[in-house]
Amino acid sequence: MKLLSYLHAGREGWGAVVDNGVLPLAQRTGCESLADFLGSEGFARREDIVHGLRPELPLDGLHYLPVIPRPEKIVCAVRNYMDHHQEVLAAGMQRELSEEPPIFLRVWRSQVGHEQPIVRPRVSETLDWEGELAVIIGKPGRDIPAERAWEHVAGYSIYNDVSVREWQFHAKQIASGKNFEGTGPFGPWMVTADEIAPERQLRLTTRLNGETVQDSHTGHMIFPIPRLIAYASTIFTLVPGDVIATGTPAGVGWSRKPQRFMKPGDLIEVEIEGIGTLRNPVVMQA
Ligand code: MG
Repeated sequence: MKLLSYLHAGREGWGAVVDNGVLPLAQRTGCESLADFLGSEGFARREDIVHGLRPELPLDGLHYLPVIPRPEKIVCAVRNYMDHHQEVLAAGMQRELSEEPPIFLRVWRSQVGHEQPIVRPRVSETLDWEGELAVIIGKPGRDIPAERAWEHVAGYSIYNDVSVREWQFHAKQIASGKNFEGTGPFGPWMVTADEIAPERQLRLTTRLNGETVQDSHTGHMIFPIPRLIAYASTIFTLVPGDVIATGTPAGVGWSRKPQRFMKPGDLIEVEIEGIGTLRNPVVMQA
């Protein structure tokens, strides 16, 4: 099942994608947000809840919100694709593989929905793309062993971990380049975990103005999803709606020769097999 968040008539809503339309579910489930629903007993009964119901809003023209508009945590893996690691080395950067998954946190205020604009900040010209598979947590947990990790996954979505490169490299800590407002596209929806088998290799492609700039698959991850969940949940309790962006494969603009970045007027798309396409235009910060 596909689940999403949206804005309609000035109000936030969430629902299921049914027959190319949206079936609003907040009132039907008593859950104000999609994150609440993922943690509720109703989530296991989702097929029964939508059974026989018709969509009430068209997908066409929908104002998409980030799938989870305000996750408590957005945990982002870095250096998590072997092909990306190799391109970084080829670009002349010194970098060693870590023994443990390197992560950073992104703030929800940086997020944007499908088809909403990515904002290039006034202070930088190095706005770069990073197409990523996003894992969305359902069942909460602390100290989750890797072999139990899949039980905590509610579903999958697409993240574009858009990066402001020169800010990322102000210090060894990369957080400043990863948290600008309007740089976290997340969507268009989540696909529940029952539709994508654990360990399945999903093709991931990123297109800039229609030209393919990343083409890889999730089998190239260095630290697979169970390892990321085990590691993150050692630090803090993962709660429903938490997001884990699992890192990006090769093909980012920073590692290209010559380097290449996004500018106002560009259109960036990230497509992941079995999930869909996350599409965003780029605008200049007002
Ligand atoms: Mg990333």
